[in-house]
Amino acid sequence: MPTMARTRALAAALEPRVDGFLVTTLVNIRYLTGFTGSNAAVLVLPDGSTVLATDGRYATQAAAETDGVDIVVARSVGPELVSHAAAAGLRQVGIERRQVSLTAYDALLAAAGDMALIDAGPLVERLRIVKDDDELSAIATACQVTDEVFAAVLSTLRAGVSERDVAWLLRTEMHSRGAEPAFDSIVAFGPDSARPHHQPTERTLARGDLIKMDFGAAVEGYHSDMTRTVVLGPAAEWQRELHALVRELQRDARAATVTGALPVELDAEVRRRIIDSGHDVAHGLGHGVGLEIHESPFLVPGSDADTLVERVPVTVEPGVYLPGRGGVRIEDTVVVRAGGAEPLTTSPRDLIEI
Ligand code: ZN
Ligand code: ZN
Repeated sequence: MPTMARTRALAAALEPRVDGFLVTTLVNIRYLTGFTGSNAAVLVLPDGSTVLATDGRYATQAAAETDGVDIVVARSVGPELVSHAAAAGLRQVGIERRQVSLTAYDALLAAAGDMALIDAGPLVERLRIVKDDDELSAIATACQVTDEVFAAVLSTLRAGVSERDVAWLLRTEMHSRGAEPAFDSIVAFGPDSARPHHQPTERTLARGDLIKMDFGAAVEGYHSDMTRTVVLGPAAEWQRELHALVRELQRDARAATVTGALPVELDAEVRRRIIDSGHDVAHGLGHGVGLEIHESPFLVPGSDADTLVERVPVTVEPGVYLPGRGGVRIEDTVVVRAGGAEPLTTSPRDLIEI
């Protein structure tokens, strides 16, 4: 993992008013250093030099996972690095204020003495938006596993299986391919499919039910995210119409997800079309995907995300839901390219009647 290039990029992004940046968000620490343990803080200086503090449980792991990083073993990782920065004569250190609890902030302040702690904003989150080759490769692998798992699980769907059965099967199919679930899978039958974020229950599958499955795999810490809605057929006319509407919305939204597109406008266009078709809008169009399942850029109302550039993976996931009857969502993980969005999940998008 080219982590040294990442810490150098962060150093270059430090505002002139900040002469060091304390990173306390674990996923950002993983991105910058490769360290995957559950307790750490990282201090990055303008010259790119990086110190990672962790506790004794992770000393060996930190040395093995990182490269070109000084490692300090301490019980209280954030305050340790703040003291370190103050002793080195730093005057202004940036922190990830949004991610720091009040208790942790008190401890950082106590260690800072005369040194100022300044909210530096989501600097690392911004760097994480555009992916390098290693990251895109891990996401593509996670998407491939997701496609394979969909095909495997589809062949087992029959009347009488429960939502929880299918969610468990998704998990075991991912496990057998060396992957982990990227998040708790959504499996929703019949009327349950009208709930956008339904938690699987003991409801059993019956003929004529829509079957909505939203799941993904995680590979090397990188996520994938896909939704398909099928039916234990034959499909009713309203189910065909609903599915055709969402399929068209999703196809057009994928085509529009190109370099130069503004995320807030992509969402607004789909929102307008759902309303024009006489339905309600239940959620945003999509989100970035990477070390987190939901990360910048967000394709939602009010999003302040910049225009899309190449090498940004996002989801495109319009859905339309008829309360009490059923709903359809079609979601792909795609990567923004100059010539158009490249789908990384490629399972069939036509209505499958089992
Ligand atoms: Zn999803
Ligand atoms: Zn999603």
